[in-house]
Amino acid sequence: MDLAFNTNEEAFRDEISAWLKSNIPKEKWEPMDTQIGFEQHRAWERQLYEGRWSVPNWPEKYGGRECTLIEWLLYEEEYYLSGAPGRVNTNGITLLGPTLFSWGTEEQKDRFFPKMANGEEIWAQGWSEPNSGSDLASLSATAVRDGDDYVINGQKTWCSRGAWADWIFCIVRTDPTSERHAGLSYLLVPGDAPGLTRRPVARLDGEPAFAEIFFDDCRVSMQNLLGEEGAGWSVAMATASSERGLNLRAPGRFLAATSRLIDLYKEVINNNPLMPSVIRDQVTEAYVNAQAYRWQVFQKASALMNGEAMGAEASYMKIFWSELDVDIHATALRLLADRGELVGEAPDVQGEGSWMSGYLFALAGPIYAGTNEIQRNIVAERVLGLPRK
Ligand SMILES: Cc1cc2nc3c(=O)[nH]c(=O)nc-3n(C[C@H](O)[C@H](O)[C@H](O)COP(=O)(O)OP(=O)(O)OC[C@H]3O[C@@H](n4cnc5c(N)ncnc54)[C@H](O)[C@@H]3O)c2cc1C
Repeated sequence: MDLAFNTNEEAFRDEISAWLKSNIPKEKWEPMDTQIGFEQHRAWERQLYEGRWSVPNWPEKYGGRECTLIEWLLYEEEYYLSGAPGRVNTNGITLLGPTLFSWGTEEQKDRFFPKMANGEEIWAQGWSEPNSGSDLASLSATAVRDGDDYVINGQKTWCSRGAWADWIFCIVRTDPTSERHAGLSYLLVPGDAPGLTRRPVARLDGEPAFAEIFFDDCRVSMQNLLGEEGAGWSVAMATASSERGLNLRAPGRFLAATSRLIDLYKEVINNNPLMPSVIRDQVTEAYVNAQAYRWQVFQKASALMNGEAMGAEASYMKIFWSELDVDIHATALRLLADRGELVGEAPDVQGEGSWMSGYLFALAGPIYAGTNEIQRNIVAERVLGLPRK
């Protein structure tokens, strides 16, 4: 087994690292879950696109560099280590993107990919409903064919950045006689479609990060059906696999966070040599686990490049990264003690309270992308072959 990166990979890493150093904005931006911050981050998507760094693993004709999966993982490492702004179009690029590559027609790809890559169209995911979260197959939003359109009725909720997104990818029931996983369809819905209204919903930190979406006889062209009518569950599972596996949360995010945690530990221990040694063990454990996740992902990436598919192991990877993220942030807050609660411009605040806001967001990791209880059920049944009951 060769664990070294080849010269192309090293050159690729150097190129993105240099580009980020000279392009990262100097000014401080609003969080992307505010209306102003959303537009600031959209402008960053455009800048990345112009440097051909928005979607490096996509085909050149859509603004990519056709880089390998290994190079993309190195790109993610450099991206997070550099402290570059968050990606406001993650739902489009990393969730819908791979699904569209697999299931979209050529017309759909040509229509949607360029504007997804350059940030002109930011996407949100409209799957969860007030009574359907973990049990998504129980969803009740409907779409009925009327001429060349679908007419959608129902409600979606917890739609991240749904308050301002330009497009929403939704799962709806198109066969009213169907039950559960059958009779569902995957529709791409413009945010300004007639009959669509949205209501922002605040997150734990008060930012309007979510929206409820209401469809009242909302009309959408049948051109916006992704995959076959009634095959929506299979299309959705392609998206879910991207969400749980390595696409949404590449290891670079956690490597960067543990690197900041180690810096914080060094800073705090200088001022407080009596810090309990158990904290040092927790910092070490976070580092080791981030490295373990890294190598697990590189191993899986090599297998994918050799033709393997991403199977149910996406579920245990999701459990691992989401719990690691909570541990990293909880350890930082233990290190900061009472300072950890300071946010904004408070005196003695550490990094404007970024560890606290990161912790609050990390707490959501075991919930979004399918809760960890559900992932454990999947691992039990499909990886370990345990009986359902
Ligand atoms: C930060 C964040 C962002 C999100 N973004 C989006 C988005 O953009 N678009 C979108 O559509 N949704 C989004 N969601 C919603 C998310 O997908 C749901 O919260 C999630 O699927 C769980 O559904 P629920 O909240 O209805 O909880 P429920 O399904 O009601 O579950 C409640 C509890 O019961 C447990 N449970 C349920 N069924 C079982 C079972 N069979 N076995 C064991 N335990 C079980 C769950 O694990 C959970 O602990 C987001 C959520 C969060 C927190």
